[in-house]
Amino acid sequence: MNLMLFGAPGAGKGTQAKFLIEKYDIPQISTGDILRAAIADKTEMGMEAKKFMDEGQLVPDSTIIGIIKDRLAEDDCKKGFILDGFPRTLPQAEALNALMNDMGISLDKVISLNVPDELIVERITGRRTSKVTGKIYHMKFNPPTDEKEEDLIQRADDTEETVTKRLSAYHDQTAPLIDFYTNMGVIVELDGTKDVSEVTADMFTAIEK
Ligand code: ADP
Ligand code: AMP
Repeated sequence: MNLMLFGAPGAGKGTQAKFLIEKYDIPQISTGDILRAAIADKTEMGMEAKKFMDEGQLVPDSTIIGIIKDRLAEDDCKKGFILDGFPRTLPQAEALNALMNDMGISLDKVISLNVPDELIVERITGRRTSKVTGKIYHMKFNPPTDEKEEDLIQRADDTEETVTKRLSAYHDQTAPLIDFYTNMGVIVELDGTKDVSEVTADMFTAIEK
C-alpha cells in the first residue's frame, strides 16, 4: 500500500497518518519530521534547511528529493509507505514518479485533506506535540489529558506570522499538485474540517474502495 497524505500545513496529515500506520503497518515518511530530526542532530543539511523553515519557505527541491530517495530505499518501505508533506512542488512530484517507476511501484491513493485557510491558522497555533509519545494534540480541538505539561512542545514554525507564509507557499507551489494527481487518477479529496474520527472513517472508505 503506497499512500500519500496531501493538504495545507495543519490540514491533519500527521494526525491521520497515525491511523494508517496502525491499520496497515507501514511507515510514515514525513519530510518535515526528517528535517526537524536533522536540525536536532545539528547536521549540515539540517542547519541549511532551518533557514528556510524558520522563514516559512520550502526547503530546496534537491535537498528534499535526496532525502526521499534515501528513505524509500530503506527496507521498511518494501511493504509500502505513507508520504506526509511530500511532494510539495511539481519537480518533487515528477521526481517521485520517476523514483517509483524505477522501483517498479506506483501510488495507490493520494488522500487530500481540504481545510480552509481561516481554520488552518487556529489549527497550527494550537498544535502541541508530545516529545515523549510523539502524539499530536490541539489545545482546543484535541486537548492532551494524560501528558505532563513539560512534555508538550510547540514547533518553532507554528507561529501566526510563519503560518501566513507557509500558507502562501502552499497555495503557490503545492496546491497545483491537486491537478497533477487528478490527471493521474489517484487523488481523493476529503473534507478535512470534520472531526478527526470522521475524517479517519472517510479516509479508510476512500482507500478501500
Ligand atoms: P499536518 O500534519 O497536516 O500539518 P496535524 O495533523 O499536525 O497537521 O494537525 C494540525 C493541528 O490540527 C493539530 O493540533 C491537530 O491536533 C489538529 N487537528 C488535526 N485534525 C483535526 C480535525 N479533524 N479537527 C480538529 N483538529 C484537528
Ligand atoms: P511540515 O512538518 O510538513 O509542516 O514541514 C515543516 C517545514 O519543513 C515546511 O514549512 C518546509 O520549510 C519544510 N518542508 C517539509 N517538507 C518539505 C517538502 N516536501 N518540500 C520543501 N520543504 C519542505
